[in-house]
Amino acid sequence: MIWRTSDGKTRTFSWRLASSTMPGYMGDKSGMTVHHLAMKKYECKIYHVKKKNQSYFIPDTLDCAKKEGFSPCSHCIGKSP
Ligand SMILES: [Zn+2]
Repeated sequence: MIWRTSDGKTRTFSWRLASSTMPGYMGDKSGMTVHHLAMKKYECKIYHVKKKNQSYFIPDTLDCAKKEGFSPCSHCIGKSP
């Protein structure tokens, strides 16, 4: 898959490199909130999310996160229209 980084460059993403590549979204199972890692804010407090509460999505999309029951974080994603 191909994704766009925050500096506007496009990179090809390979799942084989998933462990060394930053994912786009991270779910916090303790609050059932999904954060957009490239847009994270201080208020997200994602560094306080315990490893066991971290959830990643395949495919790495907001839709996928919503289907798994996560709500978009109001700080980094905002309310969807
Ligand atoms: Zn957030």
